[in-house]
Amino acid sequence: MSEKILIPILGDQLSMDISSLDGQNPDDCILLMMEVEDETTYVRHHKAKIAYILSAMRHHAKALAERGWSVDYVKLTDPDNRGSFSGEIARALERHRIDRIRITEAGEWRVMAMIENWEDQFAIPVSICPDRRFIATHQDFTNWADGKKQLRMEYFYREMRRTTGILIDRDGKPEGGKWNYDSANRKPARGDLSIPQPIRFRPDAITEQVLTMVAEEFSGHPGSLEQFHFAVTYEEAMRQKRKFLDEALPRFGDYQDALLSGEPFLWHSILSPYINSGLLDPLDLCHEVEQRYRDGDVPLNAAEGFIRQIIGWREYIRGIYWREGPDYVERNFLKAKRPLPEFYYSGETDMHCLSEAIGQTLDLAYAHHIQRLMITGNFALIAGLDPQAVHQWYLEVYADAYEWVELPNTLGMSQFADGGIIASKPYASSGNYIHKMSDYCQKCHYDVTKRVGENACPFNALYWDFLDRNQNRLADNNRLAMPYRTWGKMDSQTRDDIRRQAKSFLDQLQGN
Ligand SMILES: Cc1cc2nc3c(=O)[nH]c(=O)nc-3n(C[C@H](O)[C@H](O)[C@H](O)COP(=O)(O)OP(=O)(O)OC[C@H]3O[C@@H](n4cnc5c(N)ncnc54)[C@H](O)[C@@H]3O)c2cc1C
Ligand code: SF4
Repeated sequence: MSEKILIPILGDQLSMDISSLDGQNPDDCILLMMEVEDETTYVRHHKAKIAYILSAMRHHAKALAERGWSVDYVKLTDPDNRGSFSGEIARALERHRIDRIRITEAGEWRVMAMIENWEDQFAIPVSICPDRRFIATHQDFTNWADGKKQLRMEYFYREMRRTTGILIDRDGKPEGGKWNYDSANRKPARGDLSIPQPIRFRPDAITEQVLTMVAEEFSGHPGSLEQFHFAVTYEEAMRQKRKFLDEALPRFGDYQDALLSGEPFLWHSILSPYINSGLLDPLDLCHEVEQRYRDGDVPLNAAEGFIRQIIGWREYIRGIYWREGPDYVERNFLKAKRPLPEFYYSGETDMHCLSEAIGQTLDLAYAHHIQRLMITGNFALIAGLDPQAVHQWYLEVYADAYEWVELPNTLGMSQFADGGIIASKPYASSGNYIHKMSDYCQKCHYDVTKRVGENACPFNALYWDFLDRNQNRLADNNRLAMPYRTWGKMDSQTRDDIRRQAKSFLDQLQGN
């Protein structure tokens, strides 16, 4: 009798090419897919995020079965469901005669620790396959990072360009002569531009069932299901990808940093949930983007800008996550400890920029990068919010949020809580930046030109107060020399007024 192998397929491993299936004969394998309570409730995930993942899992199980795999699928509502991956592995081992377990490595420390325990826990061999959906292996990142004083994304990105050959010319030089065209990618958007909209996929019977179940079981979780729009199959994700390549990519570069009221998507791809869960392959996507450039369909600043996000930022962020270890989550370089204001869960605030970014997040489980970094993240940073609470919020509310990608982006890039491993300076700004890049301030209760006074934009006083509060930790950062000089040149009355303004705002925020 041949050996029987149990292959658990996790909710972010929804790819036909997942490494655990490599070289396996469907007749010898049982694929186990598990909806478990622990994973849906370890933070209060947005309802639409849960619905997306569960529906995509159910569709993927169907697709695997159609290809001849035996899939054992455990639904969340199964009365015998033990609520955890390990509990369900135990139950599967009771149901089937299994000789060994084979699984692709998990994306995060918490689940990896669970998997590494199975061999002892169940007295069965467990083989863990590397996740081939990334370009850099853990060892590649270690090789690059070891011995470096600073781990800047830009240099890692150049390595990835050389490794993949993407946007490299015949002489081995970067296409167009420069590695990075970011300086061309900072145009503010105007409302009169025609902005492509992502496809709103109509829920099929499987998705409808999931939506009903999520509405019943997770009513206390944040967010709404009313505008559920996600692709839940490989074919649908491919349709959204093509729409992005055809309609939005040509201007992706120009408006990458733009912000506009009532326009949640702008020229972004809205592909991160599909890439992170496995429906789309990141490297294939980058090859297609390169081809569009080579065919003359998109400018270089758009193709390079997009490719950098994937083979640069995405890969680098994952490398940092695994390099820094499970205690990365506890870093708090700036000793920030203020609780998250309630409006992060309601969107109800007079600060228009925040109410736009949070409102659409609760409606769609989506916000684009600059909203995450320069609106919700920037506010949390300059208001001194507890980085762990901020991390938990980001992990909950975005459909693309898995700890390996969310945590370094939030804790490191956005909150500077790692002391500068990822960012060379904190992404802190006053209202001026938001005014320059958006139309938010024109529609706001507050006056972006005022630092103090009744309707002064809170970002202004908070920004200077943030620098003042953190002078002992930040003043020797060269990249902050200019703002610290400006702060130093203000007369003491002005500085006191700013401190008072910030204190009164922060007191109100906490209901003092
Ligand atoms: C505080 C904060 C938290 C974030 N949390 C997440 C998260 O939980 N999950 C997540 O996938 N991204 C996260 N990001 C990165 C980025 O904001 C999202 O990837 C992006 O907004 C997804 O939307 P999109 O697909 O339309 O992206 P596009 O703007 O179209 O970008 C293309 C792709 O590049 C990748 N990408 C871009 N920036 C990053 C980045 N900094 N790190 C990793 N991948 C990147 C994504 O796969 C994205 O789909 C976070 C950023 C910040 C500042
Ligand atoms: S004025 Fe200030 S609070 Fe209002 S939208 Fe502009 S930056 Fe945001």
